[in-house]
Amino acid sequence: MEVVDVAIVGGGPAGSTCAAFCAAAGLRTLLLEREKFPREKVCGDCINPACWPVLGRLEIANQILTSPHARLDAVEFIAINRRKIRIDLPRSEKSEIAIKRSIFDQLLLSRARDLGAEVREEATLLSLNPSASDFWKLDIVHETFLARFVVAADGRNSTVARMLNLLPKPARERVALQAHIPLPRDFGNRVVLQFLPEGYSGQAPVNERELNLCLVGTAPTISSLRKWAESEFNLPSEQPWRTITPLTRDPIPVAYKNVLFIGDAARVVEPFTGEGIYYALRSGELAAGAIAKIIRGEDRELILHELERVHCAMYRGRLWINRLARAAVLSPQVASALLPVARFSPAILRLLTRKIVRPA
Ligand SMILES: Cc1cc2nc3c(=O)[nH]c(=O)nc-3n(C[C@H](O)[C@H](O)[C@H](O)COP(=O)(O)OP(=O)(O)OC[C@H]3O[C@@H](n4cnc5c(N)ncnc54)[C@H](O)[C@@H]3O)c2cc1C
Repeated sequence: MEVVDVAIVGGGPAGSTCAAFCAAAGLRTLLLEREKFPREKVCGDCINPACWPVLGRLEIANQILTSPHARLDAVEFIAINRRKIRIDLPRSEKSEIAIKRSIFDQLLLSRARDLGAEVREEATLLSLNPSASDFWKLDIVHETFLARFVVAADGRNSTVARMLNLLPKPARERVALQAHIPLPRDFGNRVVLQFLPEGYSGQAPVNERELNLCLVGTAPTISSLRKWAESEFNLPSEQPWRTITPLTRDPIPVAYKNVLFIGDAARVVEPFTGEGIYYALRSGELAAGAIAKIIRGEDRELILHELERVHCAMYRGRLWINRLARAAVLSPQVASALLPVARFSPAILRLLTRKIVRPA
């Protein structure tokens, strides 16, 4: 049976970042990922500028910028009555970009592997149990591992949380659909956030040929949103869509015994503001730092307490924006009615956009 310092479940941005930093700190690091990479994911594919410092510390910022991506220079809000407001985004080398998750997540996973993490793809966690001497026993098909620490980086429907009876009841009130479709001519380098009677749509180019199209609605209305997209973007009725739910659920405390929760597994935020990847990267880095310190012999309780504090601070002052976004998208008619008001006070929208798209 292989024994490791840390076993990370999930190889998305949170898990790969955590694995890269753990391996760089000299820990025996195992990463278990259910899928075979590269793979796509339901996501708007937008990388908030706040991600650049973490990507810099991972030393993959240049690799990302030399991979196919789109540089985004404006956000356009479109109300139900189709009135538009455009806000320019800060421009610099490390500004907001959009890149397909198949490329972004693969780069992060490869970085973790290069730094010495043992990466197992097509390895689904089947069971997790406490073992002797405070170790955790993890089973995948035909193999068992013992780990001093487990990191749950397995997304919003976290299997680890479910196995430990920690997964909050999901509010299955909404569902998201996503597809990459041919980029309409003259779309430009903008992100579009469009309010619709049944929900909202996010649109962003991801390269010179493709547009990322996301639809968010409720289960009963999602098919009419799909019909709207088919007619708006001239899509065939057999257009394949990826889907995900829930879009909201309660957070899980960062540490449970020697199991740490990061990224979406810890807290799911409203996709409208496009910040989830930043939280995934940063929480992965923070968890790796805490595990390395504890394994080197520093006081476990103090370190975990500090981790909880810094993790909460990462969201502090931002959750109101998320709640605001959620209120807007749950009442698109109200949000659309307010957009013309914001037109006369563009400073408010600019402030909100600046808060969301934090310059690096
Ligand atoms: C519609 C929509 C649009 C969004 N748009 C944006 C955006 O534009 N920008 C942004 O920053 N954020 C966006 N987000 C949020 C973003 O997608 C997430 O916050 C981000 O993917 C979280 O990363 P993660 O690593 O925590 O989890 P994930 O990316 O979900 O990765 C989890 C990984 O765990 C693996 N896994 C799951 N279970 C197991 C298991 N049992 N065993 C092994 N592996 C397992 C999965 O295969 C997956 O690879 C959006 C979300 C939605 C729903």
